[in-house]
This record gives sequence, structure tokens and C-alpha cells, in this order.
Amino acid sequence: MSNVAIAVDLGGTNVRCSVIDDAGRVAFDARQSSDAAEGVDAVISRIARMIDAAATDQQIGASVAVGVAAPGPLDPQRGIVRYAPNLPGWDEVPLRDRLEELTGREILLGNDANVQALGEFHFGAAQGVRDLVYVALGTGFGGGVISDGKLIDGAGGLGAELGHTTVNIAGPRCTCGALGCVEAYCSGWAIARHGQMLAGTDRSPALAAAAAAGEVDARAVADAAEDGDAAAAAIIQQAGLALGAALGNFVNIFNPQMIVIGGGLAEIGTPLLEPAEATLKQFALHDMLDGVELRRSRLGTRTGLFGAAALVLKR
Ligand code: ADP
Ligand code: MG
Ligand code: ZN
Repeated sequence: MSNVAIAVDLGGTNVRCSVIDDAGRVAFDARQSSDAAEGVDAVISRIARMIDAAATDQQIGASVAVGVAAPGPLDPQRGIVRYAPNLPGWDEVPLRDRLEELTGREILLGNDANVQALGEFHFGAAQGVRDLVYVALGTGFGGGVISDGKLIDGAGGLGAELGHTTVNIAGPRCTCGALGCVEAYCSGWAIARHGQMLAGTDRSPALAAAAAAGEVDARAVADAAEDGDAAAAAIIQQAGLALGAALGNFVNIFNPQMIVIGGGLAEIGTPLLEPAEATLKQFALHDMLDGVELRRSRLGTRTGLFGAAALVLKR
């Protein structure tokens, strides 16, 4: 292999580690549970062991660097995870320095959604697109913006927290403490919360049944909607409308050529994305809307790994 990187994607659920070359070929693919409840040190040691295992398996020299996508907010310049809602106990963790000590390798760290935007830009749906808005619809609502070919980091490295765009100043409370963020409508946790509230009423027979059988998550709400449950369908539609309003804002602010939508929640497909597209057309300025292409991610669950490799290979 010519030019390779070790890529790590740290999530609240899983840690993934791959070896990826500059043509986007994946040579190694390991996944372990994050086991975040074991604490910060255990998670960091596990990541270091996965990096060592990848290097041994692929006979990779010590000079090859590692790109790491991690939940944020984080400071990519100082290599510090400020805090992470999905990683309990993570408070001002110097992840870059700790991994450099343990592996002896250079580590480059980036916010997961920002890194995913880089993955789409260098290896995915947005190759050759100089102005890109990437939206990650997962447990939360992540975002990354590439403007004139460069990732927007902001002054403190915290830029492009697109999920906390206000779509309703009197809307529901978000995990960030503010009201009416798009994430409080269109994210795995928000759709699950709305579904759980509905399950306790007499409005949704399908969600009441789902709650009796187990936990109501976003997928359960989407399934109930698909089976014709009107109240569940309204939750998905409202999430789509909020998404569309936010996308309209993004178009007006960044004038992108392309919007790429990734993340597990995007699997809902048309019931979520059709109202979003209709609302986007209502809120975006039409001069800018004409040039925008809306696409689903093609990299699937590997977007973060490709982006982490891009941190190293395309710096
Ligand atoms: P993260 O990386 O933030 O953990 P993912 O991108 O893996 O998140 O997405 C997870 C979220 O997407 C969860 O809320 C899950 O319920 C939801 N989800 C995953 N697949 C589907 C699906 N097919 N339909 C609806 N929701 C889904
Ligand atoms: Mg971001
Ligand atoms: Zn918020």
C-alpha cells in the first residue's frame, strides 16, 4: 500500500478501527464495544490496543499517523475532548496526548460530525464539491461544513454545531439547555422521547404496544408510522419539517453546492426527507436553492472512518 492511515471512530456505543489508503481502500476493519461505563482510562487503553493490533496486522511502520473521530464538543488544535454526552465521565480529556503516549504515533483528532463531512468530501458523495453542508442524523444531530474546500472549525474548534440551530424559539427543551433546537425535534433521542410520551396516552395504539414489548426508540416510532399509526407518523413528519427549516437556514448562511445527509436516522427515508425537502424550499432563498443538490450519504457507517483517514492523508 502506498500512502496509508490508521483511522479510529470513537462513538458512545462502538469503537471502530481501520487502515485506509489514499484511494479509499479499506484494509482492516475492527470493532469493539466502547464500554464507556468502565471509565475514561479503560476506553483510551482499548483504543490504543486496537491501533497496535491494526498496525501489527498490516505491518505498518511507526511513522504512520492515526486519525481519530471523537464525540464533542472537542478542541482539535489542543486535542482535548471537552465533554461528550454519550461518554459518561469525559470531562476535558486530553485524548490526543494520551494516545500519543500509549502508541508512540502522531494522533490527529477531530469532532465526529466535522470529520464525517471530510469523509464525504474526500471519499464520498461530495468529492469535488468545494462548498458542502453535511448533516449526521443519529442519536443527536451533528453537522460539518466545508466552505471553499476547507472545514469550518471556528475560533475554539467548536464550529458547526448545526444541531443547535434554533427552529422554534418556544420549542421543546434540548439537551444543551436551549429551546427549540432542530436536534430537539429531529434526532434519535428526540423522536424516542416524543414516542415514549405518546405511548403513555391513548393516542397511539402502535406505540403503546411497542412500549409494552420493550423500549420505544426512534426506530419503533418510524415502524409504527410505517404501519399507519397516525400519531407516530406526525412525530416523523414534524421531525422532517424541523429538519427542512434548519436546512433552509444552512442554505441561506453557507450557500452550499451540496447537502449530504447521513446517520442511522436517515434510514427512515421518504417519510422524514420528503417533508424536509418541501420545507427547505419554503425557507431557503431561491437564488441559492437552485444550485443545491440534496443527497444521502453513500459511505454508510464508515463515513467517520474515512474522515479520520482524511485527517491524516489529506492534511
Ligand atoms: P450514533 O452514531 O449517534 O450512535 P447512528 O447514526 O448509529 O447514531 O444512529 C442511531 C439512531 O438512529 C438511533 O436513534 C436509532 O434508533 C436510529 N435508527 C437506526 N436505524 C434506524 C432505522 N432503520 N429507522 C429509524 N431509526 C433508525
Ligand atoms: Mg460539527
Ligand atoms: Zn440544543
